[in-house]
Amino acid sequence: MQVKTTKAAILKELNSPLIIDEITLPENLAYGQVLVRIHYSSICGSQLGEISGVKGHDPYLPHMLGHEGSGVVLEVGEGVSMVKPGDRVVMHWKPSNGINAKPANYTWRGAKLNSGQITTFSEHAVVSENRLTPIPDDFDMKIAPLFGCAVTTGLGVIKNDAQVKIGDSVIIFGAGGVGLNMIQGAVMSGAYPVIATDIHKNRLEMAKKMGATVCLLADDKEGLEAAMKQYSIKGFDIAIDNTGNPAVIAQAYGITSPEGRTVLVGVPKKGNNTELYTLPLHFGKSITGSHGGGTIPQKDIPAYIRLYKAGRLDLDRLITHTFKLDDINTALDMMRKGETDGRCLLEMI
Ligand SMILES: [Zn+2]
Repeated sequence: MQVKTTKAAILKELNSPLIIDEITLPENLAYGQVLVRIHYSSICGSQLGEISGVKGHDPYLPHMLGHEGSGVVLEVGEGVSMVKPGDRVVMHWKPSNGINAKPANYTWRGAKLNSGQITTFSEHAVVSENRLTPIPDDFDMKIAPLFGCAVTTGLGVIKNDAQVKIGDSVIIFGAGGVGLNMIQGAVMSGAYPVIATDIHKNRLEMAKKMGATVCLLADDKEGLEAAMKQYSIKGFDIAIDNTGNPAVIAQAYGITSPEGRTVLVGVPKKGNNTELYTLPLHFGKSITGSHGGGTIPQKDIPAYIRLYKAGRLDLDRLITHTFKLDDINTALDMMRKGETDGRCLLEMI
């Protein structure tokens, strides 16, 4: 391969800062693999979860991270037909059509460094063909990473899991990068009112900008009751949880109407179970979990790019902070503390 080494942010141990270091790329691309020069990557809340070991023991340490990026294709392996050198691409975690290649064989400090079919916290990455979707040459590379997860998951949950209809009342718990796109998607679909809650005040201000009708702090029970009264809502048609917090999941389910739907998007920490009274599920109420909003990248990314270009989707204001790869740990700390009210972008060029 034309590139031998690259700079990457590596997760060596759970609950510790990422290590920024030079890693060695494989000598050759395998079947279906693509070498990408990454320009930008955004940081998704699920990477915070990965670093803190939310799903339990991590057998893949040390490993690479990141699942929403933008870049330019440098080289393609055997069998690749969906992208070619020079193409600008969105890097996404949901598989699209194209080959599902095996993960890249990186080495770091003389030992194997694990990675998945896609990682984006590095200057170059070897990515599976089915994690890349070409974008127009004139498309903003800073905006493009958002199509890797934040936008596609957010809008996908509204469209596919929640199936929001005109006039539906919607409540969204958690207004991070994905939640803010859900708000936009719900508003676009004709939902009213759209209520957003978060534990961080700054995020609520952003939620308001994205079109939320009412924004409330997560513990403001009185405010929620008042809003429900104001809009004559006994139960919500759609309640979406982005937090993974058992108490919030129970609350979301509790205020879903007898014919409504609770959608779980946030991933609970292993062992954090929720107790639910299930009788209403026999009579029309439903609860479902989402896996990336049921996104079909090759279909949805071009559609959402059209909406963005038409000014129907506000993404410019979603990127609130930009960091160099070397400063990724500062970005992660700010996200943990809730100091970031939109998406953090990593700049690799
Ligand atoms: Zn994500």
